[in-house]
Amino acid sequence: MQKSTQGSRLVVKNVSKDFGNFSALRNINLDIQPGELVCFLGPSGCGKTTLLRIIAGLEQQTSGMLFQGEEDISLQPPSARDFGIVFQSYALFPNMTIADNVAYGLRCLRVPKAQIKTRVAALLETVGLPDQAKKYPTQLSGGQQQRVALARALAPNPGLLLLDEPLSALDAKVRHHLRTEIRQLQQKLGVTTIMVTHDQEEALAMADRVVVMNNGVIEQVGTPMEIYQQPASAFVAEFIGSMNFIGHSAVTGRSAQLDARVLALKQPISVVQDNIRLAIRPEDVHLQPLDGPGWTAQVEHLDYLGAFIRAQVTLREWGLSLLVDVDPRTARQLGLSRGSWVNVTLPSDSLHCFAA
Ligand code: ATP
Repeated sequence: MQKSTQGSRLVVKNVSKDFGNFSALRNINLDIQPGELVCFLGPSGCGKTTLLRIIAGLEQQTSGMLFQGEEDISLQPPSARDFGIVFQSYALFPNMTIADNVAYGLRCLRVPKAQIKTRVAALLETVGLPDQAKKYPTQLSGGQQQRVALARALAPNPGLLLLDEPLSALDAKVRHHLRTEIRQLQQKLGVTTIMVTHDQEEALAMADRVVVMNNGVIEQVGTPMEIYQQPASAFVAEFIGSMNFIGHSAVTGRSAQLDARVLALKQPISVVQDNIRLAIRPEDVHLQPLDGPGWTAQVEHLDYLGAFIRAQVTLREWGLSLLVDVDPRTARQLGLSRGSWVNVTLPSDSLHCFAA
């Protein structure tokens, strides 16, 4: 309890994990800085929970090493490691009061009673539950129970806070509210935090850096902006947000046209013709009036999504269908409706190139 409030640095070095013949993680390398909030994000089965469990010592890596600060924790049991953990399912002790739940880790560390009392009261205040100390978990809502789980994890002042899908059991409104609270609290305390999530919006909103995983490997590590704006692979581009892929067949034979009319591609044209996939986000595709620049396209479908309209347009000449996000005012000016015609431009600086 007298430890520094500074979070730990965590280094994961060449960690792999096999379950029998199945390779769940391959050569994972990460360097997480003190006070950072890092999200492990990826589709179901990509290995994010396994990696979190290895960091906690709940699962043993097949090979590789882990360092917390200067300490080699690769072979330490969970009880010897300095972390607090929160699970999706709250996992509170049902027969203990809220105060006793929060005090649990401190009792295990044999912290003096008076100190425990003060610390528990302060933590319940911090997570917004100062009046709930004497209640039992079943008397609280899901969101409140998860706040208690957070207070319990933070009680021993760990260097590392591990969150395993902590918000996914909660309804949308509580989830939004709690994610802001968790982020603010984490920043205030400076505790290094790793959160597993499959919710990209949550990861982009909360994380300093996002680790995008797929099939047991890391596809990209970057700030939310880097991940969104400069996806390192077609997988990341497709997994985060929406992306139009312009297939090879659509590009072949049109590269000169592309170059002349829109792109001024940084890559040589020969690269475009060989095995490169071009891609562009719906908000980066521009619609113009029919007498403007670009390719003629017909509107197939319109979805009104409140802040913007998502249009599906087809460039008949290309045999290519694109999603385009348009603000409602532009949509009105262009007279967008199902079946109407517009011109489409693809700004060169918004195009992404991936190996096919
Ligand atoms: P989810 O979002 O569905 O929880 P995840 O990305 O967290 O997925 P993991 O739970 O880490 O994925 O699992 C990664 C892979 O390892 C999966 O294919 C899973 O079936 C497998 N796996 C995990 N634990 C075990 C185990 N104890 N024995 C065998 N295979 C396992």
